[in-house]
Formats: sequence, C-alpha cells, structure tokens
Amino acid sequence: MSNHYDVLGVGRDATGEEIKKAYRKLARKFHPDVNDGEDAQERFKSVTHAYEVLSDPQKRRVYDTTGNENGTDNGAGNFSGQGFAFQDIFETFFGGGGQQGPAPRTRRGQDALITVRIDLRDAVFGANKKIEVETAVTCPTCEGSCCRPGTSPTTCDICHGSGQVQRPMRSILGQVMTVATCGSCQGYGTMITDPCNECIGEGRIRSRRSLTIKIPAGVGTGTRIQLTSQGEAGPAGGPAGDLYVEIKVNNDPAFLREGDDLHATLSVPMTAAALGTELTLDTFDGEQPISIKPGTQAGEIINLRGLGVTHLRGYGRGDLKVHVHVETPSKIDAAQEELLKQLAALRGEQFTAGKLVTSGGMFARLRDKLGNL
Ligand code: ZN
Repeated sequence: MSNHYDVLGVGRDATGEEIKKAYRKLARKFHPDVNDGEDAQERFKSVTHAYEVLSDPQKRRVYDTTGNENGTDNGAGNFSGQGFAFQDIFETFFGGGGQQGPAPRTRRGQDALITVRIDLRDAVFGANKKIEVETAVTCPTCEGSCCRPGTSPTTCDICHGSGQVQRPMRSILGQVMTVATCGSCQGYGTMITDPCNECIGEGRIRSRRSLTIKIPAGVGTGTRIQLTSQGEAGPAGGPAGDLYVEIKVNNDPAFLREGDDLHATLSVPMTAAALGTELTLDTFDGEQPISIKPGTQAGEIINLRGLGVTHLRGYGRGDLKVHVHVETPSKIDAAQEELLKQLAALRGEQFTAGKLVTSGGMFARLRDKLGNL
C-alpha cells in the first residue's frame, strides 16, 4: 500500500488539474462497471479515496504535513493502517521534500452567478444591458491587507511564522514528532492583531455595483455569459472569481421563438383571404408588407426570410414565419346572412338539413389541414 500520490501516479507537486486528470483516467480504468478484475474494486476505492483527499486543498495540506488526512490527533492510530511511510514524517519534520510553508491568506474568490431577464428583441439583435451585481470586493480601506491602515500582521507567537506546530506522538516506533497546522494562526503564520474596521480583518467587503454587459445577438434562455474576474473577490486581496450571467428571455406577446425562427399569427378577414389583399405586419425590423394571395387558406405560412433571430455562432438570421389565421364572421346580420347564402348557392354549396354536402370530400380536406400543422 502506498501513499495517495503513488496511488494516483502523480508527483507531490502535482497541480489540482493534474490530480483530477489522473483520477479520471484511473477511475475509468477501475470502475466496477467496466472492470471485473479481482482487485478492480479495491483499486477503485483507493483511487477514489486518494482523490478525495488530494483534490481538497485543506485536506491535502493536512495530508502533506501529517501524512494522514485526519490531522495529527489520530495520526499514530493510522500509522500502519494508512500505510504512509515513516520517511514522510521524517522529511516533513526535518525539512525534506514535500514541506509547505505557512498557508497564504490570499486566495482566489469564488465564481458568482446571476440571472438577467431580457426581452426577445434583445435576443434577436443583441444589446448592451446595465445590471446590478452584489459581490465581495477587495476592502477599499485596507486594500486587502486585513489590517488597520498603518499596521501590519504580526508573526504568530506559537508557530513563529511557520504556520505549523510539532507535537510528540507515541507510536509503535517509539516517540515521533508530527506536524500539525498551528491552531493559533490557523496555519497562516501571522496574526491580524489590529484588524481593519471596515472589513473586520477579512480584506474584502460586500458591495453593489452596476455593470454594463454586452449581450450577444442570438442568446436564449439558459445561455451563460462569462465575465472574467467579475465574481467574488478572494479573501485578503485575492483575485476575484468569474461572474456568470445566465440569460432568461421574456415571453413576447407577438412572437414565439423556435430555434432561431420566429413565429407570428396574422388574422385576416374571410373575405380578404378569399379575395386577396396587401397588409403590413409590425416586426422587430419595422413594418413589413405582407401579400395575402386570393384564396389563402387558414394555417398557411408566409415565410419572411432572414427576419428571425441572429445565429449566436456564425452569420445570418433565422426566418419569421407568419401563420395566417382566417377570421370567420361570427356575428352577422340578416343582410349578410342573405348574401352568404347567395354566395353558397352560386358556388353550388348546398345545405341539407343542416349538413353541408361537398363534392371534394370533407375528410380529405381535414387531412390536408392537419398535415400542415
Ligand atoms: Zn479592510
């Protein structure tokens, strides 16, 4: 049984990314679902355990300094069980390989996520939008030093700046010295004895600010825009994480989006559908002339090429599809009724006891219509 670094096949100075990569590769190899070898399950377990420890900076630091992931308190108990080498402690204690100095107070901040609602028009063309964000920012009073201006951190009395303390432990090999994070300074090696008033020694404060963001044309609900270094500032002047802006597009009263196409409904009177007419439709690109041909049927689609949503990646735009809705008159007076009956008679459409008898076959027409939906 070897140490967690050997289990993952990485060096002690491996970066988080290298550790993740190594773990993925081994986990795929030994996962019980794909590997039914005798020791695969055991290997998978130890690989996963090693990754759990080394992927967590806090746990890794403890592991590096003490040789086990639980700190020194039960280090002796784990001495043989966890299989770490005596040499690890020896080196740590006497300044061999793997030794780490005091932990930096300054760390990168976390990424932040906010949701921004936009109108469909902004999704079609893109827009600059002013948003309000609240994140941690580096404290303006102490500029991230955490100390009251004019003062500075003092070296920790307990660990003398190393961030680590040595403790004698009894073990099967007799008394050995182990190294643990200094509880007095939390491993930083220094103490903020006179903390900044504004941030109470954190080096950062919460702050609201407005930001103008560029929303590219073609975004949709769920699109995330990444703004580098606009997230949470890290503690003690640490660099900020990224800000992710997630887009939600409001429903539009007139247009429905489907992919990069837009759909709209245009109502025309029955007579206009029969006789044909010229209309205009108000679109995101202004008023567009629409030609209703004589004999236009309900549900017909008129395609306005290139008047849809801009493609997010690439060039050009989707289409605007105008669905024709034919308005059948619902309130007619006696004169209109008489005219319609005359029209029906002229067209040879005869009513028989309330039923319309047609020559074309009603079901055939219904099928045509459904086919268009
Ligand atoms: Zn401050």
